[in-house]
Amino acid sequence: MAEPEFTFELRTCRWAERCWPPEGRERPVLVSRQLGTKRRRWDTVVVEVDADAFARRAQFGRKRLDGNLLHVVRNAPEVWEWYQDALPDPGYPWRYVRETIHEADDRRVLDVRKRGRKLEIRRRWEYPDWVRRIVAIENKPDLDASAARNLRPQIERDVALALADEVWVATRATGDRVEPALLESLPVEAGILTFSGDENDDYGGFDENQTNVAWFPRTLDVDAPGTRIVERPSGGKYDQSAATFEYVEPAKKRKKRLEIAERAYERGWRSYTRTMRPDCRYFELRHENEMLLPHCSAKSCSQTASKCSGRCSDFEPEPPTWRQKEWPIEGGPGKAIQRLLDSRRERFRPD
Ligand code: SF4
Repeated sequence: MAEPEFTFELRTCRWAERCWPPEGRERPVLVSRQLGTKRRRWDTVVVEVDADAFARRAQFGRKRLDGNLLHVVRNAPEVWEWYQDALPDPGYPWRYVRETIHEADDRRVLDVRKRGRKLEIRRRWEYPDWVRRIVAIENKPDLDASAARNLRPQIERDVALALADEVWVATRATGDRVEPALLESLPVEAGILTFSGDENDDYGGFDENQTNVAWFPRTLDVDAPGTRIVERPSGGKYDQSAATFEYVEPAKKRKKRLEIAERAYERGWRSYTRTMRPDCRYFELRHENEMLLPHCSAKSCSQTASKCSGRCSDFEPEPPTWRQKEWPIEGGPGKAIQRLLDSRRERFRPD
């Protein structure tokens, strides 16, 4: 049986962590999955980082800094100053900025003090410019001609908005020299990556030698205004309507990119147990060379994140005894699985 898209996605993440970029000089990267905007989630996100700046980012802790915290931390002055003098107008009421300042204080990423009735701030460290490029990869293991045609509008939207520096589609090779369905159906700006090995090969056929670039992507202009395609005509015989667009300012794109990178920093790609049920007695992690893949012993397959939920008819909580004897007091195998993946996430953070 063909493996689910979810497993393919995990393999792509693992491959990107080891082998990015597909050709050319190695670059330090941070890999995450299922990130993007409210309207669009990318399957795999590769954040190319500046190694030194990335190391300095660690001063701000493991948790992401959201848009509000970034606004405060990045604009905080070197010397004590009243926050309303120090920070640019946020575009929303100052009382929300005060809340963010208190949050930053609690997280120890900002110096805060009261002078009379005035709240003063001072930066603890300069927020480093750690993000070099952001690459979006759409995973489609079984991409036939009709699936490629269906995917086209989505990739066109990504290209028009140019929020990521590159957009790729990753698929399993069909055996043809080039994947004809892909080349014909996808926008030329998108790269096409094919994995040619067998699922039972090392890294599930995602070894460097089993990866082929069928088409290189065009670098998108992330500093130019982006175009969001709001509505497009169906193109049918009776549809004479025009597509509608809106422009997205470069500053807004820069902000969104950094927020995406911050989320990638917090989550990595091994955090999938948070949306699955590792506390189910049938949940296992199976070793595949250096990779751990979720496996359901009840269904004898690699389960998807959507199926592995409390709604699963086979779900059975791990027995309480698992939580008492050999397993650490604070949890059973489910917790141990989470800890194992968390420790791997740490190990694979770029130096
Ligand atoms: S039985 Fe259902 S909930 Fe339990 S591991 Fe399998 S898929 Fe997940």
